[in-house]
Amino acid sequence: MATTCDLAVIGAGFAGLTCAQAAAVRGLNTVVLERKPEVGAACHTTGILVREVADAWDIPRNLTRRIHGVRLYGPSLAWIDLCSSGYFFLATDTPKLMRHLAELATASGAKLRLGAGYVGCERIADGFRVAGHNLSARYLAAADGARSRVASDLKLGANRKFLVGAEVELVGVRGLDEDRLHVFLDSRLARGYIAWAVPGVGVTQVGLATRGPIAGRMDALLDRLAGLFDLSRARVVARRGGLIPCGGPVLPWRTDRAMLLGDAAGMVSPLTAGGIHPAMQLGRVAGVAIANHLLDGGPDPSRAVAALAPTFACKRWLRTAFDLLPTNFLFDQLLASATFRRLAQVIFFHHRGLFSLEAWREILLAAR
Ligand SMILES: Cc1cc2nc3c(=O)[nH]c(=O)nc-3n(C[C@H](O)[C@H](O)[C@H](O)COP(=O)(O)OP(=O)(O)OC[C@H]3O[C@@H](n4cnc5c(N)ncnc54)[C@H](O)[C@@H]3O)c2cc1C
Repeated sequence: MATTCDLAVIGAGFAGLTCAQAAAVRGLNTVVLERKPEVGAACHTTGILVREVADAWDIPRNLTRRIHGVRLYGPSLAWIDLCSSGYFFLATDTPKLMRHLAELATASGAKLRLGAGYVGCERIADGFRVAGHNLSARYLAAADGARSRVASDLKLGANRKFLVGAEVELVGVRGLDEDRLHVFLDSRLARGYIAWAVPGVGVTQVGLATRGPIAGRMDALLDRLAGLFDLSRARVVARRGGLIPCGGPVLPWRTDRAMLLGDAAGMVSPLTAGGIHPAMQLGRVAGVAIANHLLDGGPDPSRAVAALAPTFACKRWLRTAFDLLPTNFLFDQLLASATFRRLAQVIFFHHRGLFSLEAWREILLAAR
């Protein structure tokens, strides 16, 4: 029998689940379609959360590990430590975190259909008919990831620039400072981005993201790390990979009665490749605004999202500089410079820091 709902959310990732929860708890009849058989299965992310997410969401402690600083290595493996008083990152057991978000959404009344891939939709008088699922919806929120099929069907913008990411989970790594995100600048390993070793929840996550082909780079990274940490008893227990949009927000990302969210909308920092915070933050804002619109005649919900959506203008500019300029030689030089240290500090520790006058004052003072 055909189901009519208020809101159909495509994709049960960070953006989709937070949107669904916020809408359902406010009384919208909400259906989430997820193509995987299980939420959190084959997840493609390292899952590091910035402090802002830890403050805004009540994430169970047993799913996370606090990490208080970043150790930034140059190609020569010389390093600097970056910390900011009171700041921390959360490493997460990401599949469990996603299941937790799914439980919150279903407890709020959202209906989660798993193994239910979106295959198409057509506009009807008051919304959309979603093909293959006997479902029509008054509003469509597309949170179906970096290569959004919904975006293409609705003739919305598409991500065109990507980094390719790959990660392994290891057990048995020793000699790694567990209170640091270990971040490696080395264009031979990770062209245009970084490699990392993260002391995670019960495992060590080692990965890299790069422009262009990734084959062979993970082995090269593990060889490099074997000179820094004790990997003699390390064993790979999981592998993952995926695309990271790095071209900034897609345009257009909204149309009548539908909008893109999260990676589908290109809402990923082009510089740090962090996408979980914008996915969750704007997912929730969208859920609230769609509920206000459909239940109480509030304004077009995309307005509330547009008001908060980052443009990443400064980070896109820095991304281009990162792509074009630094050679490995330059990275080692930069690491020794107080100005670069301050810039790195702002990039890692302050969500909107690059736009704050205070941050730039400190960077310029460091340059003197
Ligand atoms: C290797 C790697 C490491 C990363 N590490 C970090 C990190 O540490 N911190 C951080 O902030 N960001 C990180 N990111 C980026 C971050 O993972 C993404 O920005 C974030 O997951 C985006 O969430 P989302 O909900 O928009 O999309 P996704 O998490 O991609 O979720 C999309 C969902 O839609 C589903 N779906 C797709 N197509 C369909 C369809 N046709 N029908 C139904 N369902 C569909 C998918 O199965 C998936 O569940 C990383 C990315 C990669 C690739």
